[in-house]
Amino acid sequence: MKKFAFFLAALLMLTAGLAGCGGNDSGSDAGQQADGGQQTEVQEPAGDDAGAPEEGGADGDTLVMGTEATFPPYEFVDADGGITGIDAEIAQAIADKLGMGLEIKDMAFESLVSAVQGGAIDFAMAGMTVNPERAESVDFSTSYATGVQVVIVAEGSEIASIDDLDGKTIGTQSGTTGDIYCTDDYGQESVRQFSNGALAVAALVNGQVDCVVIDNEPAKNFVAANPGLTILETEYAVEDYAIAVSKDNPELLNQINAALAALKEDGTLDSIINKYIPAE
Ligand code: GLN
Repeated sequence: MKKFAFFLAALLMLTAGLAGCGGNDSGSDAGQQADGGQQTEVQEPAGDDAGAPEEGGADGDTLVMGTEATFPPYEFVDADGGITGIDAEIAQAIADKLGMGLEIKDMAFESLVSAVQGGAIDFAMAGMTVNPERAESVDFSTSYATGVQVVIVAEGSEIASIDDLDGKTIGTQSGTTGDIYCTDDYGQESVRQFSNGALAVAALVNGQVDCVVIDNEPAKNFVAANPGLTILETEYAVEDYAIAVSKDNPELLNQINAALAALKEDGTLDSIINKYIPAE
């Protein structure tokens, strides 16, 4: 019996260890994934110094980025199972500038701000919109991209503009600005929240919601992948995307801002964005 319990415990530890290795690691990972006992990628800080990231982020050479990887073209899982996209590439370019490795952890969008605050990740980069509520909890870098909240509907829908949303069931990705606006404007009872945009779009395809409010570039990707959907021309909101860093780590924020400025200056930012968002 004891033996069996030991075996079970070992098995559980192994499973937990594997679960902890789900993130993409596109850089040096010395020590970062050796936190074997963690249950999921986000429950424990990456370093051993909870809540107090060392100078320059991470514990040593690796920056740990948190994202939610079903948000193409900013972040998505590629054919090899790695996380790629605009944010992943810009983050890698920043890490390169700082002479550090990069590890990417995939988690729920809603968990990102608290993961930054608690030190589980060094920064969040997830097509994240700068807003005053989040800015109370984390510091934001300078903006590296613009996002627009748009409305996806089924072709032929009676929803022809934002003014027609009243009384409709709106699908959103939980905790996003689109979710917050729709809840504020149309009431909680009109909004159905999903854990990611892909699930919200699937609900639209199945007729469970009348529309989905989400950022424009992911919207284009979802519409391209799901025939019969279209994006309304009227825009819900125009927003700035930025990188979220702990308020306890102004040093890292400065380093990221300096790296972003350099990458803007030398054209790297534009070339990464243009690679994923071809000019229309
Ligand atoms: N830009 C939106 C927000 O910050 C959505 C981001 C996302 O879903 N990854 O809330």
